[in-house]
Amino acid sequence: MARRPMLWSMSYARLPFDPETYLTDVRMFQQEGFGAVYLIDDEQKAIIETGTSWDASKILEAVKTFGLQPSDIDALVVSHIHLDHAGGAGFLLSDMPRAKVYVHERGFKHLVDPSKLVASAHQALNDDEADLFGTMRPIPPDRLVAVKDQDRLDLGTHSLVFYDSPGHAPHELTILDERNRCVYTGDAAGLYFPGDEILMPIAPAPSFDLEKNLETFRHLLALKPRALLFSHYGPHTKPKAAIEAMMALYPSWARVVKQRLASAGEDGVLQELYDMSCRAAKRFPRDFLERRIRVSIRGLAAYHERLEHVGPGR
Ligand SMILES: [Zn+2]
Repeated sequence: MARRPMLWSMSYARLPFDPETYLTDVRMFQQEGFGAVYLIDDEQKAIIETGTSWDASKILEAVKTFGLQPSDIDALVVSHIHLDHAGGAGFLLSDMPRAKVYVHERGFKHLVDPSKLVASAHQALNDDEADLFGTMRPIPPDRLVAVKDQDRLDLGTHSLVFYDSPGHAPHELTILDERNRCVYTGDAAGLYFPGDEILMPIAPAPSFDLEKNLETFRHLLALKPRALLFSHYGPHTKPKAAIEAMMALYPSWARVVKQRLASAGEDGVLQELYDMSCRAAKRFPRDFLERRIRVSIRGLAAYHERLEHVGPGR
């Protein structure tokens, strides 16, 4: 039976750079092209990013459709511990008896006991958003691996190098695959909306730090990657141009929030940032993009407030 190609696919599709690296769209927040979960099909099998708790069943389905069993998976790598990246991990493990979860050392204790993390995420979100972000299931310490800067994970032909990449969050990692020179950026390099080709900062409260994020961008540039593999969403094949654009956008957004929030209010700033970054939107709905921007307005406001109270050079 001939099957028509689907716009988004529950199964894993191969990336152009590499015969062993695959991408599936979990339709995070019910949006096509927002939640990327990668699979490296090497001697050891690794999944990069685990989505929200809602996405775990979709990942299991994609793994089976691909032709593997969940019990074949050796490693689950989470770029950071926010619910849309690490939320799925605790729900996948019962079906993946071999798998260990690789997480930044600063995130380790929050995956063992996610109660604070879930509470603070839900506090920052309104009810229907909180529902979309799902929840977390505690992960036993013996199923977790705490990762430090420049730690490695060898999968066979692929070798992953983890880099401490603060800015978006203090527990953020970017991950270089030495075989194909692609970098998994988590949320460290902002958001990429393919098709519309929109690049957008993502600067959430409570701990976004502009200076650290800019330092992370400089490090990403120095790696000279062949492509950036965004968690939101997918491969960007002009990494230098993308990083340089973000290095201009982050400070611009920070400036708009600092100078205009008091006078224009959140809705006024939202309008300005949307016009600045999202005019090309066709594929992604305005409402969806605006929700992402609001997260950054609040995070940038919190960042400026912190600087005022503590002063620079903390
Ligand atoms: Zn995210």
